[in-house]
Amino acid sequence: MWVAHLNRLPTRVRLVSWGLNIPSSCCLCSVMEETREHLLLRCVFSAQIWHLVQSKLRLSPCIFISWTSLLVWMKLKIEFAPPILRKLVSHATVYHVWKQRNNLLHNGSSLSPLATFKEIDREIRNTITARRNRKAFRSLMLLWIR
Ligand SMILES: [Zn+2]
Repeated sequence: MWVAHLNRLPTRVRLVSWGLNIPSSCCLCSVMEETREHLLLRCVFSAQIWHLVQSKLRLSPCIFISWTSLLVWMKLKIEFAPPILRKLVSHATVYHVWKQRNNLLHNGSSLSPLATFKEIDREIRNTITARRNRKAFRSLMLLWIR
């Protein structure tokens, strides 16, 4: 997430800017240029995952137009979806979209958005369970699984 935040992920647009002779199109959809914002926020693949995540949190679906809009979304004060939970979910989503991109690029296979969301769900449950004795995490499982 930190590397993504700094916009240092080796997306295809960045690789092309370094002189690599490769297509700059998105690994997941092959339609748009593979920038951080496209791949992690607006690609049809990642947009479906964000929609599933927002539905799970009972939030109105929204499409992030920029990295800044994701950061603003993570910090919104909403009682039933506190910022710590939205940060956990955002970190897991960014990680799993990047993982699926790499899996498709290097292994020729990737999971569907729904299967990827199930992995994100499992990761969130494991993260909350591992930190269940911390005050900030005590109520998160109920908010996530309801
Ligand atoms: Zn795409």
